[in-house]
Amino acid sequence: MAQLLIKNGRVIDPAAGRDAVADVLIDDGRVAKVSADIGAPGAELLDARGCIVAPGFIDMHVHLREPGIEHAETIETGSRAAAAGGFTSICAMPNTLPVNDNATVTSYIVDRARKYAVTNVFPIGAITRDSAGEELAAIGSMKQAGIVAISDDGHPVMNARVMRRAMEFARSFDLPVIDHCEDLHLSAGGDMHEGPQSVRLGLRGIPAASEDVMVARDILLAELTGVRFHVAHISSRRAVAMVAYARQKGLAVTCEATPHHFALCDEGMAPYDSNYKMKPPLRSECDAAAVIEGIAAGVVDAIATDHAPHPGSEKMQEFEKCPFGIIGLETALGLALEKLVHTGKISLARLVALFTSGPAGILKLDRGTLAPGAPGDVTVFDTASEWTYDVNRSFSKSRNSPFDGHAFRGGPVATVVGGAVVWRRDDA
Ligand SMILES: [Zn+2]
Repeated sequence: MAQLLIKNGRVIDPAAGRDAVADVLIDDGRVAKVSADIGAPGAELLDARGCIVAPGFIDMHVHLREPGIEHAETIETGSRAAAAGGFTSICAMPNTLPVNDNATVTSYIVDRARKYAVTNVFPIGAITRDSAGEELAAIGSMKQAGIVAISDDGHPVMNARVMRRAMEFARSFDLPVIDHCEDLHLSAGGDMHEGPQSVRLGLRGIPAASEDVMVARDILLAELTGVRFHVAHISSRRAVAMVAYARQKGLAVTCEATPHHFALCDEGMAPYDSNYKMKPPLRSECDAAAVIEGIAAGVVDAIATDHAPHPGSEKMQEFEKCPFGIIGLETALGLALEKLVHTGKISLARLVALFTSGPAGILKLDRGTLAPGAPGDVTVFDTASEWTYDVNRSFSKSRNSPFDGHAFRGGPVATVVGGAVVWRRDDA
C-alpha cells in the first residue's frame, strides 16, 4: 500500500476546526492520520515546512471543452492546469459539443477523466436540452451517470416556467441548480459593463441590472420550489445584497465569486483587449468591492475560476467579435492571496474554506477536509514566494489571460490527488 507523508506544514482544515503545525499521512489514497511527528518508514516524503497544508482545492466552475472543442482545451490539459493551480477537483460545465445534456455524454466525460485527468473531474449536467432553455435535459439519468449539479452555464434559462420545473426536478434528485444569471433582453449585444467606461470606449454595455433581475427571479423560484440554488460568478453589488437577503430568510441559496471579478474592474481593463472580455463583464470598482465585502461577510461561499479557454485565433479578433471568457486555474490562488489575505480582508482559514469546504458543501462532495478517512487530496501552498505568471508556460491549451506577467506573492507548491503528487513547483 502506497503511503505519502507530508511533514511539518501548517495544516489548515476549516471543516475539522484545525489550524496547527502537523504531519499528514495518506495511506492507500485516503487520509490516515493528522498529528505531530508521525513516523512512517517507507512512506514517500513531502516536506511542507513553511507551507500551508490544506484539503485539496475544489473549483466548481471550469470549462474543459471536451468533447468537441478540443483545440481550446481537453480534459487532460485542463486538469493539468488545475493541478498547477493547486486544484485537486474540478467541475466540468456542460457547454461542450455536444452539450452534456444526457447520460451518454456524462459517461463519456467520466470515462475520459478516469483515463486522462490528473485531478478528480465532476461533470455538471445541462438544465435544458442543448442548453436551449426549452425542454428539460435528462436530469435523472445524468445523476445516475455522475453529475453533481445542473446548469446551462454560458446561457441563462430565460423562461421562468422552465426554470421552475427544472428546480422541482433538481430538488427531487437532490441536485443544486447553478444559474448563469443574465437577462438576455437587458444585456443583448453588450460587450462590457455598462457605465462611464463603456461610454468612453464606445462599446455596448451590459447593465448590472441584467444580472440583478435574474438573481432576484431565481431566489423567488428557489423559495417556491425549495431547491438548493447557486448563483454562478456573482459580480454586482445588488446581486450580493440579494443573496445576503435570501440567506437571512433561511433559503438554501449560495453563490461563488471569480478571482477576476474581485481583482479587476472595468476602469482597470486594457481598452479593447479581449483578455478583459468575459461574462458577467468586469464591473465597476464599487461592484468589485461589494464582492470582496460579500466574501468577508460569509455571503460568498466559494471561489471558482470560470476557467474558459479560447484559442488565440478567436481571441485575436476585434473586441466586439471575440468570445467571452478567460482562463484562470493557475492564477486563482495567487489572486485570492493578493486581494483577500494580504490586504487583511479575510483570514487564511477563510481562504481555505472558500476553496474547500465551501464548494464541497454546495455540491455535497465527500471532500474538502483532511479528516481521517477522507480522500487523500491535499493542496500545499505558501504565502510568501515571489513568482510571475507566464501564460506561455501554462498547462492550458489556451492563452487568454489578462494576468500574463503579473507578479504574485504566494501560490501553489504541490498538489496531491488520492495520495499521489500530481504537480509540484519546480523548486519544491
Ligand atoms: Zn456563466
